[in-house]
Amino acid sequence: MAKVVILGAGFSGQTAALYLRKELGREHDVIVVNPWPRFTYIPSLVWVGIGRMDPDQTMFYLEPIYKRKGIHFVQAWAREIHPDEQYVLIENKDGKKEKIEYDYLINATGPHLNFAGTEGLGPDHETTQSICNIHHAKLARDAYLETVHRMEKGDTVTILVGTGHGTSTCQGAALEYISNIHADLVRRKLRHRAKIMWISNEPKLGDLGVGGVFAKKYGYVMSSESFLKSLFSEQEIYYQVQSAVQKVDKKCVYWENYEGEQGEIQYDFSMLIPQFQGTKINYIDKDNNDITGKMTNPGGFMLVDGGYGKKWEDVRASDWPATYQSPFYKNIFAAGIAFATPGSISKPFINKNGTNITATAPRTGMASGIIGRVVAHNIIDMIRGNEPSHKEAMTEMPGACIASIGKSVWNGSAASIILYPVAPDYERYPDYGRDLKANYLDIGLSGAWIKRLLHTAFIYKMQGNPGWSMIPE
Ligand SMILES: Cc1cc2nc3c(=O)[nH]c(=O)nc-3n(C[C@H](O)[C@H](O)[C@H](O)COP(=O)(O)OP(=O)(O)OC[C@H]3O[C@@H](n4cnc5c(N)ncnc54)[C@H](O)[C@@H]3O)c2cc1C
Repeated sequence: MAKVVILGAGFSGQTAALYLRKELGREHDVIVVNPWPRFTYIPSLVWVGIGRMDPDQTMFYLEPIYKRKGIHFVQAWAREIHPDEQYVLIENKDGKKEKIEYDYLINATGPHLNFAGTEGLGPDHETTQSICNIHHAKLARDAYLETVHRMEKGDTVTILVGTGHGTSTCQGAALEYISNIHADLVRRKLRHRAKIMWISNEPKLGDLGVGGVFAKKYGYVMSSESFLKSLFSEQEIYYQVQSAVQKVDKKCVYWENYEGEQGEIQYDFSMLIPQFQGTKINYIDKDNNDITGKMTNPGGFMLVDGGYGKKWEDVRASDWPATYQSPFYKNIFAAGIAFATPGSISKPFINKNGTNITATAPRTGMASGIIGRVVAHNIIDMIRGNEPSHKEAMTEMPGACIASIGKSVWNGSAASIILYPVAPDYERYPDYGRDLKANYLDIGLSGAWIKRLLHTAFIYKMQGNPGWSMIPE
C-alpha cells in the first residue's frame, strides 16, 4: 500500500489527484492538503475583478468530490517537508500542527505572491489591486466599481494595469484584465472618462513572458507585438514596456526602465501582478538542518530534472524539466508553478543600476494541468515498481492566452494568442522556436465562446465528473 500526498488543490494538484485516484486501487491512499475548502478556477477571475462574474461561479467545494472519489482531504497549510523521514508538517486554521507521512509527495502549491518585493504594492497597503486569487479579485472588483461610480459622477480617471515588479510573470492575465476593463467601460458608456495604461517588464509589447509569438496569417508572419500594438491603438490603451515598478503609494506608481531612467504614473485604479516566488515551505533533513536552499532555486521554486545554472543563451529545449522529479529525493515531485524553470523564456535584462527587468517564464493553467497528469503517472509507475516513464517538457506543450474583450457570447470578443510550444525549441523549429502553423493570433467572437467554454469544461473536469479525463488538460 502506498500513500501519496499532494500539497495544493489548484490546477496541477487537482489534476494529479484525479489521475492518481483513477488509476490506483483503493489499497493506496491519495491525500490532498490545501488551505482552503474550495477549488478556484483562476482564469475567470478576470471577470470577477470587474464585477462581471459572481465569485461563486468560479469555485466549488473539494470535500464532496473527494468523498465520492475516495480522496482524503486535509484543510491545512504545509509548513515543512521532512524528506528523509518522509513526512510533511502541516498547520490547520486553528494553528494546530500535525505530521502527515507519505511514500510519494507532490508539491503543487503554486506561487507565493511576493507583494513585499515591491514597496507599497498590493491590497494590504490599499494601493494597487491583484486578481491572482479569489480574495484579491473581490477586492479588485470593489475598487474598480468604486472607480466606475466616480466616473458616473463625472470624474475622469487613470487606470493602470500590468506588472508590479521587474521580474513578474503572468502578463497574459494582466492583458486579459485590461482588455476586459476597456470593454466594460465601453459597455457602460464611460470609456471616454478613463485613460487606460499598460506598464510591464516585457522587452516588447506582446512578449508575454514567452519571447513574443509569431503566427502565419494571410500568407505573412504576424507578431504578437504588432497584433497588440494595433489592438491597443484601436482601444486607445497607452503602453510602457521595459519597466520595473519599484515602489507604489496611494497615488503613484514609481518605475525604472532599461535605460535606468526613473519616473512615476499617477493612478486612480491599478492592478499590478506581483513577483511570483515559490511557496514558503521549508525542507528539513534528518539532522534538523534546513536544506531549502539545496531543494529550491533562489526564488523558492523546487528544483526538478532541469538543466539549471546555464546562461540564458545556452539553455536548450533538453534543459526543460520533463519528469518533474526531485534530483535529491526520487519520491518527491513538483507540479505547476511550484517547479523551477531553467530560466526565463524572454531575454533577461539588467540595467546600469543593477535592476533586473526580466519577464519571467509563465507556467500557464494548461501546462500546470499537463504536468499534474505527468507527475501522477510517474508516481503510478514507481508504485508499480517501474522507473518514471512519463515525460513532457514545456517545449512540448501548447499554451493559450485568450484575452476576452467582453464576456457576452452574443457580442463579446477575445484576442486569442495560441502558441506551440510554450518554451521554444530552436532545434525543431530553427526560425522562430515554435510551429508557425500551430501558433495563432486572432480577434473575434469565437474567442469569447472559447473562453466561456473553457470555464465550463475545466470546472466540469476539475470536479471529476463522468468523462473528465477525456477533456484535455
Ligand atoms: C487572473 C489569472 C488569469 C489566468 N488565466 C489563464 C488562462 O486563461 N489560461 C491559462 O492557461 N492560465 C491562466 N492563468 C494561469 C493559471 O491560473 C496558473 O497557471 C495555474 O493556476 C497554476 O496552477 P498551480 O496548480 O501551479 O497553482 P494554483 O492553481 O495557484 O494552485 C496552488 C494551490 O496550492 C495551495 N497552496 C498554497 N500554499 C500551500 C501550502 N503551503 N500548503 C498546501 N497548499 C498550498 C493554494 O491554496 C492553491 O489551492 C491565469 C492566472 C491568473 C492569475
